[in-house]
Amino acid sequence: MKIFNTMTRQKEEFVPLEEGKVSMYVCGPTVYNLIHIGNARPMIVFDTFRRYLEYKGYKVNFVSNFTDVDDKIIKKANEEGVDASVISKRYIEECKKDMEGMNVKPATSHPLATNEISGMIDMISTLIEKGYAYAAADGTVYYRTRKFAEYGKLSHKNLDDLQAGHRDIRVTGELKEDPLDFVLWKPKKEGEIYWESPWCEGRPGWHIECSVMSKRYLGDEIDIHAGGEDLIFPHHENEIAQSEAANGVPFAKYWMHNGFLNINNQKMSKSLGNFFTVRDIAEKYDLQVLRFFMLSAHYRSPLNFSADLMEAAKNGLTRIKTAGDTLRRQMEVASAQTMTDGEKASWEESAAYVEKFEAAMDDDANTADAVSAVFELVKFVNTNASAANSKEYLEKLYERLQTLCGVLGIILEQEEEIDTETESWIEAMISERTAAKKAKNFARADEIRDELKSRGIILEDTREGVKWKRA
Ligand code: AMP
Ligand code: ZN
Repeated sequence: MKIFNTMTRQKEEFVPLEEGKVSMYVCGPTVYNLIHIGNARPMIVFDTFRRYLEYKGYKVNFVSNFTDVDDKIIKKANEEGVDASVISKRYIEECKKDMEGMNVKPATSHPLATNEISGMIDMISTLIEKGYAYAAADGTVYYRTRKFAEYGKLSHKNLDDLQAGHRDIRVTGELKEDPLDFVLWKPKKEGEIYWESPWCEGRPGWHIECSVMSKRYLGDEIDIHAGGEDLIFPHHENEIAQSEAANGVPFAKYWMHNGFLNINNQKMSKSLGNFFTVRDIAEKYDLQVLRFFMLSAHYRSPLNFSADLMEAAKNGLTRIKTAGDTLRRQMEVASAQTMTDGEKASWEESAAYVEKFEAAMDDDANTADAVSAVFELVKFVNTNASAANSKEYLEKLYERLQTLCGVLGIILEQEEEIDTETESWIEAMISERTAAKKAKNFARADEIRDELKSRGIILEDTREGVKWKRA
């Protein structure tokens, strides 16, 4: 399997540090609002990559943080007159709901920055001891960027160019030794959340959070570190400087970055105001459609969001799900049990699509080509399966389709949603049945129960009244 490594700008063979195991860290969102679909892109693409690693038999330790202390969170908390933790807790919960809707698996650990402050103080202390950091007179701790000889190796920037860029924007009153130095710890402002530290009452800089959470949950050296491409510089560059200086070993073996989700060819972002939240999309589409839309492009390519592409994704997804539904129905009525020789040959033929799928995913997680392979399998199923086939053959084909869909995070066995019209009809039937029972017209009440049952709806008489569920 090959992965494009941002560090070397090449596709490299993936060799984990420890055989059969993968440690992976994905920078998570800052939780001050509902996430937008740009934030959803890394969640979906790296969840799919994780699923593929698991499909290949790796045990994946997948860590993704929530940044729950930040200027934007504090600003929002002040606007609402509540604690910062009220804001972050609220939006972590909302984010988890969105993730569930998009079928993004919960990470092995979802650390919160505010629970890891002591680890941050430890790492900052180590950096000071080793001469990589210093506390200024006001209690701010800075990283001494020039001391880290390899600074710029991820983003391929050189220090002198960076220095030139900084010349004009030197902020007066800053106590840095060098304009390139960045903050590890900063003093609190009046009314802000803070923690005690050897330097001042304050809070950590953003970059140190990820270095520390990655170390705590995955160790000093990890296999893969990932996030959106806007994180390459300065966030990931700074993480490398901190982690490698403090731990004395290489930080991550592979760096993966997703391209931007754009709208009218411009990056979707909160600050530009050109965003849709995942919740906005959920009003119109099942979030599986959003997931499928994201996977229709290579994760490193820019992807332009449009209503047309969402419609295309919806149609494509329906085509796959319909093939699954049809196979399930055929399985139910199939009379022959075991595969014939002809079916065995056909089953073996269908393995070509699995090979194609794997080849695509092995090539730097090319989900666009992997999706094409699934479409080819669907076409094969549509032409080579019917109720006249044996149960075993149909089941095997279904399982094959389900496995590939599972890697993409597409739920094949999901029933179509009950629309509001059907729901009102069910409610009306239940009311009529209750009235019939009251009038001792039990024949009609049973008739209604049977009618609903024939449509896959089961009634339950409970103390709180009649409830319904799917069969
Ligand atoms: P943030 O909350 O801004 O730190 O972003 C969380 C994650 O979403 C990071 O990995 C970002 O790189 C990623 N991200 C933010 N906006 C976009 C976008 N428009 N397209 C793709 N990824 C994005
Ligand atoms: Zn990070």
